[in-house]
Amino acid sequence: MKFVSVISLVSASILSSLVPIAHAAEVNIYSGRQEELVKPLLDKFSAQTGIKVNLITGKADELISRMVSEGRNSPADVLISSDVGRLYRAKQQQVLQSVQSDTLTSTIPSALRDPNGYWYGLTMRARPIMYVTGKVDPAELSTYADLASPKWKGRICVRSSNNIYNQSLTASFIAHDGAEATAKWAQGFVANFAQPPRGGDRDQIKAAAAGVCDIAIANTYYLAGMLADDSQKQIAQKVSVFWPNQTTDGVHVNISGAGVAKYAPNKTEAIKLLEFMTTAEAQQWYAEANHEYSIRDDVPASEILQRFGDFKADTLQLENLGELNADAIRLMDRAGWK
Ligand code: FE
Repeated sequence: MKFVSVISLVSASILSSLVPIAHAAEVNIYSGRQEELVKPLLDKFSAQTGIKVNLITGKADELISRMVSEGRNSPADVLISSDVGRLYRAKQQQVLQSVQSDTLTSTIPSALRDPNGYWYGLTMRARPIMYVTGKVDPAELSTYADLASPKWKGRICVRSSNNIYNQSLTASFIAHDGAEATAKWAQGFVANFAQPPRGGDRDQIKAAAAGVCDIAIANTYYLAGMLADDSQKQIAQKVSVFWPNQTTDGVHVNISGAGVAKYAPNKTEAIKLLEFMTTAEAQQWYAEANHEYSIRDDVPASEILQRFGDFKADTLQLENLGELNADAIRLMDRAGWK
């Protein structure tokens, strides 16, 4: 029996070396975003193109480490992640490659993609000021910088400085106002915290609604997601969005995005997938699935996002946020932002 199986293995390998086997086109995705946020879109892509999609989901930083250790043998074709800080980290860790595509560069605003094509923004989110309706007069609010003013003492909830969203927010201030002004701001801002930072963005909104603080900093899709959820709607309705910096730099925005893996075995399919994700149809679904804004201006925001109103977004080249990430962390640390 054993002998027979060895023979058949040998003949199989001879056969495979003689007869080219037609591999079905496929693309392998490492996604830092949850399966339910990407899978339906990937299924649509497969149905339209016949390209099979293999999806692995996990924590973005762990997927990046995995790509580093897999090196040239990595099966990854595409890395999907939220926050430019992480995509920039992936580029720095040399797990992405530069790809050029007219479709991608003409569809995605230049501020929302890497200048050299290492990563591309696929959805946008904003990080505005949220306030408890009735407790804060929106006329008192103006800029992020003003949140360092003593009038907000003990009234602000924000998550930890370990969080990439706050690191990117702080990096944007460094880019606009310089490190010195930002360090001064951070000290005043931290002095105004209602409680030591704990929990995620959603927890800051809940704390504000529960009376712990009057102001919360959170990404728009968290509040929108709570408003869309019957079990959290009543809490979320206590909180309103204020768009800061409307007469200055605009509201801090960030992306979820993707890049093609450095050793992508299926590079052509990987680029096709990114291009597919920027089509109006895909954008409509992808942006709405997580209550985000489309990177296309011909795709309207969801009904819930539209309720927050229009705003002027910061047009800073997001790559800056990656470059300034380490400076931002150091500065937040020094300010005592836990
Ligand atoms: Fe998030």
